[in-house]
Parts: sequence; structure tokens; C-alpha cells
Amino acid sequence: MMIAAGERKIMDRQLKFLVEPVTARFITPDGEPVETVIEVRTNPITLRTCRVTLSRKGEKERGTESLPAPPPDADKRDGCPFCRPQLTEMTPQCVESLASSGRLIRGKSVLFPNLFPYGSYSAVSLFDDNHFVEIGTASIASYRDSFLNCADYLNRILLSDPQAVYMAITQNHLPSAGGSLLHPHLQINADRVASNHHRFLRKRATEYFRDGGSLLFTDYLRHEIEDGRRYIGNTGEWQWMAAFAPEGFYEIWGILPGKTSFRDFGEQDWEDLSTGVVRTQQFYRSLCRNGYNFGLMLVEDTNGCLEMRAVILARSNFAPWVRNDHTGFEVMLGDMATFVPPEETARLAQDFWI
Ligand SMILES: [Zn+2]
Repeated sequence: MMIAAGERKIMDRQLKFLVEPVTARFITPDGEPVETVIEVRTNPITLRTCRVTLSRKGEKERGTESLPAPPPDADKRDGCPFCRPQLTEMTPQCVESLASSGRLIRGKSVLFPNLFPYGSYSAVSLFDDNHFVEIGTASIASYRDSFLNCADYLNRILLSDPQAVYMAITQNHLPSAGGSLLHPHLQINADRVASNHHRFLRKRATEYFRDGGSLLFTDYLRHEIEDGRRYIGNTGEWQWMAAFAPEGFYEIWGILPGKTSFRDFGEQDWEDLSTGVVRTQQFYRSLCRNGYNFGLMLVEDTNGCLEMRAVILARSNFAPWVRNDHTGFEVMLGDMATFVPPEETARLAQDFWI
């Protein structure tokens, strides 16, 4: 994709893809002097820095020698509130003003309020009645229907509370990613009060558009397609790439350029998003990883500038004695340290986009 000179000037001023190598020197136990390079990368969107510790690239994380066995409660349907027949007895229902049917149904997907809400509107969207689904084996239709259920719910919120514009659809796959119930589901949240990331991204996208007249993620995507080293492929209009400055292992972004509201989505857009999510899971499975987080954040302003961007990243495996992926470095210093260059993540993921 070619970029006009004028556009390039705007991008160069505002979107910087910075890599600053720093070198560590030491003497090995064998007495050899060594210099090892660590890349400090700056996220062009958030300006947060992260580190790619190239010397650990070949390291095999404990618990990833093979795909871990299913969790011990993988076949315990009886105690699961999301499995039938417990579902209707153990899960709450929407208030009348949101959904007179109590729960929303789309294909095999069922959506109901979160019993332990995180904000004004907090819900759970199941995929189907399958209690445990191995990473990478979910059907695209199950994701599409669950996403469509989420969109229905979010639409109803906007109709009844138009100021609740800060919205998100997220997933925690397995307890190592924060999942409290094994039964696969999406979480939906909406509120008048912004989260930190909503607040930052809304401001960043608005100022970027005001200063340059173009959309933030469209320009980011244009740069990444032109560069090519982190670009993975498309599913419909969704464009997928490895994050330039990852804040999680094997972090992948899906950008839907030019669309700033889920209300502009067609059913095909949700299906194409589902395809990208399932392909990413298949990629993670090939690395013997079984945990991940997914997130799609929305700011439903009428004149919003924040385009759709989905993020997926692998988490520490859910297996005995696996180390957490957030060490003192991430928690205390705020810089994520990953081992794999994003360019290699993209190269490996491309096998699943053929
Ligand atoms: Zn279940």
C-alpha cells in the first residue's frame, strides 16, 4: 500500500514505531565475555514502552512442552451454573426494561447478567452448552452467535441509557487468564464511567484526528501493511497483525479500519472477527499454550474517532507450577518483557491465515 507524501508527514509526526536497543555485558560461567541486546520498543498508540529480551527467545516456558491436559473439572458439568439444566436455575435475568425475556438467545448462545457485576451493565454471553472447549477447537459459528448476542445486549443498553458509552467485550480463557468458571463465555461491560484504557484511547484518538485529520488505527494499519514484517492477513475487512510493542506474549491485534461503532457492523463483520479469534487460538495451540485473553473495547460516541481494535494475547499456561507471565518487572516497573520479536510472532501466525 502506497502512502502519499503528505500523509507520511502526519504519520511520522504522530505515530512513531521506535525500537531502541540496549546492551547488557557480562562474563558467562565459562569465562566468556558476552554482549546481549534487549529491544526497548514504544507502543505508537499508547507511548508505553516494553522490552523484547531477545536472549530468551529460544527458552521453553515450563508447562509448554506439550498442550497441558484438560483441567480437573473439565467433565464436571453437574456443579457448573452455565451448564444445562442448572443454567435457568442458577443464573440471573435482565431487568424488564433491558430484556423482557430475561435472557437473550442467539443460536446456541445465551446471555444473562453477571451475578457479580463490575459496573452498571455487566453480563455473560455463553457460546453453547459445551462445558469445556480446548483452545483452538471452538466453532466460528459459536463465536459469531455469542458476539451477536453481545451486540444485541449493548444496543439495548444504548437505547435505555445513551450515556453508558464505555463498552467492552472480553474473554478469559482458563483460570491462568483470570477465568473463574471453566465453561467458555464472553464478558460484556458497559458504563457511563470510563475505564483507564477507555479514557486514554478516546482522548488519544480524538486528538489524533483533530491534529491530523485522519483516524488513529487506520494510520497504524497503513504503516503496518506497508512495512509488512508484522502483518499477518485479513478475515473479511478485519486486518490482523502482531503488536509492534507487545504487552503480552504473542500479542495479536485485529483492526477494522474506519468503523468506530459496533452499530455499523454487519453479521459478516462479527463472523470475520470470530474467524480471526479462532485462528489465533489455533496458533496458540500450536505453541502448546492453553490460556489467553481477548478484548474488544468500544466508545459509542456519536462522533467518535476510536476505531475497532481487537487484542488477543497468550497468558501463562494453566498447568501445575507454571510461572506467572507478570513478574516484578511488569508489576512494579510497568514495562512488559516478552521473549519473541513481534516479527517472528507474525511469521508463525501466518500459517493459520492461509
Ligand atoms: Zn458448564
